[in-house]
Amino acid sequence: MLSEEKAVVVFSGGQDSTTCLAWAEQRFASVEAVTFDYGQRHRLEIETAEAICLERGIPHTVLDMSLLNQLAPNALTRDDIEIEQKDGELPSTFVDGRNQLFLTFAAIKGKQNGARHIVTGVCETDFSGYPDCRDVFIKSLNVTLNLAMDYEFVLHTPLMWLDKEATWALADELDVFQYVREKTLTCYNGVIGDGCGECPACELRRNGLEKYLQRKEA
Ligand SMILES: [Zn+2]
Repeated sequence: MLSEEKAVVVFSGGQDSTTCLAWAEQRFASVEAVTFDYGQRHRLEIETAEAICLERGIPHTVLDMSLLNQLAPNALTRDDIEIEQKDGELPSTFVDGRNQLFLTFAAIKGKQNGARHIVTGVCETDFSGYPDCRDVFIKSLNVTLNLAMDYEFVLHTPLMWLDKEATWALADELDVFQYVREKTLTCYNGVIGDGCGECPACELRRNGLEKYLQRKEA
């Protein structure tokens, strides 16, 4: 029974991972959250994740991944690099292997606490070119983690085939629509909730939200 088991959610305090947190809370007997501190531009991202977990009574661990910035300086961590995406290229926020590392660390943490379910908000639908967010990679990593640690992990990706509109619909089904809308941080400029309205992350989030609200009213 899944309902008697433990899960670890890879958690950033954004729309997607907060929806995944609510998804996990409904399915598993116990849920913990792991947030990676890799020197994000906005400390607010870590603080938002902490605040959400505190409010929902979820045990929360922040893991230091600052070495990632040492390996691969990028627009998410450096003020002097613009956030942009040119046609046909990976966005300047991309870090090779980041998701692979995060999931691997989450699995190590999970096994120590007897959790074999790892939940992540990666998504292939709004795919911005991150190879380690693809479904085929997740399935491959699942096998690798099980072999690496001789353990039966199950990687869950509730958002894998959802677009932003469907992710809002899922939040609504899980009864956290307003919560996700008001409390999460997706915006690259560090504005909680509906955001600055101008950055690429806000644009994607708003387009999905508007489509969902229109569909709901229709
Ligand atoms: Zn924004």
